[in-house]
Formats: sequence, C-alpha cells, structure tokens
Amino acid sequence: TRTPLMAGNWKMNLDWKQGLSLVEDLGDALKAFDMSKVQVAVFPPAVNIRTVQTAIEANRYPIAYGAQDISEHVEFGAYTGEIAGSMLTALGCTFALVGHSERRQYHGEDEKVTNAKVKAALEVGLSPILCVGEPLEVRKAGEQVAHTLAQVDGGLEGLSADDVKNVVIAYEPVWAIGTGEVATPDDAQEVCAAIRARLAELYDESVAETVRVLYGGSVKSANVAELMEKPDVDGALVGGASLKADEFSKIAGYQ
Ligand code: 13P
Repeated sequence: TRTPLMAGNWKMNLDWKQGLSLVEDLGDALKAFDMSKVQVAVFPPAVNIRTVQTAIEANRYPIAYGAQDISEHVEFGAYTGEIAGSMLTALGCTFALVGHSERRQYHGEDEKVTNAKVKAALEVGLSPILCVGEPLEVRKAGEQVAHTLAQVDGGLEGLSADDVKNVVIAYEPVWAIGTGEVATPDDAQEVCAAIRARLAELYDESVAETVRVLYGGSVKSANVAELMEKPDVDGALVGGASLKADEFSKIAGYQ
C-alpha cells in the first residue's frame, strides 16, 4: 500500500515573508484533518526553503518539503546559479521536482538533463519527483500514453530497481496545468496505469507496486477526491491551489 502524497508546487510565487505565512497557515489548517494516512509536502522557491524549514521544525508541522529543481552536478564547483542536492538535504529536504514541464519548456531541459537530475537527487538521498506529461497536440492525436512513457523511459534510464523505488512520478498533462482544465479521472487513470505497467515491464511488480504516481494539473479541493478514487493515482502535484492554506489543507485532507 502506497501512502498518498499531496505536493504543493509554489512555483515562482511568494517572497520569504509570504512563504512563511503560508506554511504557518497551512500547518494550522492541517490540524483539522487526520494526517496519519497522507504525506503533505511543499515546494517553495529555493531562497525560501530555509525559512520554511525553520517554521516546520519549530512547530513540528506534519509537512515535508523539497526543491523545485536540482543541479545535475553533484560535486560542489563552478556552476554559477546552480544548487547542489547536498545543499538541499542539508536543509532537510525530502524531495526535488525534476523535469517539470515549465523547466522543459522555458529552460530547454531535455531527457538527458532530466535523467542526470534524477540521478543527482538519488545520489544524495532525495526522492526525485519526475514530472512527465503530454502537450495538447499530442493529446489531440491520441498519443498521450506513448509520449509520456517515452519521458518515463528517458528519465529513469540507467537506474536500478532499488533506486526507482525512491522515485515518485508525476503525470502532469501540459494542457491541464494552470488552465483550470483538469483531466477527467479516467484520463488520469489511463496514463497513471500505463506508467505503472511500464515500471513492471522495466523492473518488476514490486517496483511497480511501490512507486507513487501522482496526477497534476488544475487539482483543487473540489476535484481531488474523484481523482484519488482511481487505483493508480497516488496523490496530486498541485500548483495554484497550493498557494492558499485553506484550499491546500482540504486537498491534503480529501479523505
Ligand atoms: P496547477 O495546479 O496550477 O494547474 O499547476 C500544476 C503544476 O504544474 C504543479 O506542478
């Protein structure tokens, strides 16, 4: 049995004071829900991780956290602007998002870089959340499964079964991100199930049964429960709706 993961990707939003308010409000709001059967995580901009860490540790909030990106370079060195995975673990991060469609689209991250970042995260003990999903043209052509599985293959290339057990995969169809147009539960299930079947093919059943596969794209408290009813949807990667403590706490407490 996989513990559901509700992950809030703040993207490039909130300065450190606003981020501090949000995590404090979220910690308070979560008290209304049973958090024993779900994992909640937030992904602040990198400059705000330290602030979020301090608030979570001081108040013992049941909130994990991670970075929105990670350097593919593992050793410290002359990589201006980059953040090493070990810097993130030193801040208590559990996760790092890798290959988000916005990184692929605006920062030219290809399969090779994404694969290197997955490996860099695993090397320092972070769980990479590998983001995959098709753009609208691909969905219209009915090629969403093939497209997404190719990204899964590329992102996981060269990993052992033990490594992959620490990976989370997030299926985020690009047309559903920030558009208010959520995939139907059946559409989400189709691709999430195909991802799990691919894991069984590439590795084995126990890997496929262990790895959490999330859905992302216009998730809100009003649609999360029906998505979570699907057997292969193990959680949500939430953008806009994670910026409001009340709304995100309801997503986390969807049960
Ligand atoms: P929205 O929830 O705003 O659609 O964003 C989804 C996303 O990209 C999370 O990583």
